Amino acid sequence: MNGVALRLQIRVESNAAWLAQIVRAQREGRSCLPAHLGLDARQYAALLARHGLRPLVRGAEDGLLGERDALREELLALRREEWQELRDLLLAGQDDRGEPAMAAIVAAACLGGEHLWRDLGLDSRAQLHALLMHNFPHLAVRNTQDMRWKKFFYKQLCEQGGGYVCRSPSCETCPTYHDCFGEER
Ligand code: SF4
Repeated sequence: MNGVALRLQIRVESNAAWLAQIVRAQREGRSCLPAHLGLDARQYAALLARHGLRPLVRGAEDGLLGERDALREELLALRREEWQELRDLLLAGQDDRGEPAMAAIVAAACLGGEHLWRDLGLDSRAQLHALLMHNFPHLAVRNTQDMRWKKFFYKQLCEQGGGYVCRSPSCETCPTYHDCFGEER
């Protein structure tokens, strides 16, 4: 690997860099996340400080963004139980390299309607894959069939006794197979 590629890899595999991108996308309205990314205000401020990121400052011109954020906070509150199950699933897949707040953030993005990488404000599924492998290795490594990530997480919850996704006992006979597997563009 040459020096440029190595520097790129180091940048891409850093939680600080991923979080900077997620925070920027949220502030620019390019993700599904609420203002505090699914965290409470204190946790959000601590996360930014921990990773050297700029605090959120709202101005008068942010009225529209404020409305959008309020709506997203409301939606998150309505689906709190589901969010908690996803967050706990993710936390259980961490080792000591993982950023615990990332579990809450990824769980909040799972509630959006797009592919997970888009709902987080990342550039690609490949970037999401690196983030998940870094933060939740014990969970991510189990996606051996290359399922779409949201579907994979919900399937784990189904297998734990939840009832979010699967209407069929096996993927092979499932009428919605193509919603769970295949490319994410
Ligand atoms: S293909 Fe069907 S059974 Fe398999 S994870 Fe998706 S919804 Fe569940």
